[in-house]
Amino acid sequence: MRSIDIHAHSTPQSYVKATRDGKEWHGLKPGQLPIAPRASWNPEQRIRDMDSLGVDVHVVSTGSPFYFYDRDIEVTKASSRECNDEVHQMTVDHPTRFAGLGTLPMQDVNAAVAELERCMTQLGFKGAMIDDHVNGKQYDEPEFEPFWNAAEEMGAMLLIHQRPSQASVRHRTTRYHLPNTIGNLVDRAVTFASFVFGGVMERHPDLRVCLSHAGGYTCYGIGRMDRGWQVRSEARIHIDKPPSAYLSRFWYDCLTHSEEALRYVIDTVGVDRVVFGTDWPADMAIDWSPAWILGLESLTQDEKDAILWKNLETLLNI
Ligand SMILES: [Zn+2]
Repeated sequence: MRSIDIHAHSTPQSYVKATRDGKEWHGLKPGQLPIAPRASWNPEQRIRDMDSLGVDVHVVSTGSPFYFYDRDIEVTKASSRECNDEVHQMTVDHPTRFAGLGTLPMQDVNAAVAELERCMTQLGFKGAMIDDHVNGKQYDEPEFEPFWNAAEEMGAMLLIHQRPSQASVRHRTTRYHLPNTIGNLVDRAVTFASFVFGGVMERHPDLRVCLSHAGGYTCYGIGRMDRGWQVRSEARIHIDKPPSAYLSRFWYDCLTHSEEALRYVIDTVGVDRVVFGTDWPADMAIDWSPAWILGLESLTQDEKDAILWKNLETLLNI
């Protein structure tokens, strides 16, 4: 048995060091972004934690606070390269324990394509992690078409993951950690809908998209999206199939913190579309993550194997 975690972040060690030295990092002031306790660990310390959890491989993504989509493009190009080079070094030093996902300057589609190409062809990455939107622009905007073309052609897996400070829910409330506990799930459903209703998945049949946090409220809300498609002409502009027909075009991590919800996701999208993702090293991560999956009574052993490693082993060639 193996376990391969597609939802595992890193904080650039160069940022951690800059903070300790009291220096700026690509315009960030020392300590401007808080660092979770485990996030400052070096790769060897991280591997020891993976060993204690029983996790074999982290598909490492630089944390979303480092997207920098709202910065000057030259700053973001430079910070993205530095983050990606650091993750690449982790995969070089520990090729059996780490694989890479890039971070990209999505505010400039040409620059994003160029960095994705560098990640895929020179750094050996498996894809990239991107936000649910780019400074408020949704992914059905025509300007993103060249990016989907490129990602599709390169076979890049795109892990969709919010930047916490940009959660849609924050317009109503920022209390009680709701932008994370609810906001991620709301944004993921909007992202699914933008990809599907906007015709992105229809135009790009080989595009690989993994929705973190199990796709948020996507599965629970799909009946209502289908109903809207049936009764409203504006919902049918780009697609001649109901949204539910596209559910199994995406992958979904297992990060539900609820056995019943995970069972529902599996039954809705198919177990071959559900992958292991834990949100290491965040406080919202799954504790003892492989043990949690293995202990779920409503999943068969075959389903547990598919989620823990088999699906990602095949999909990402890990
Ligand atoms: Zn995360």
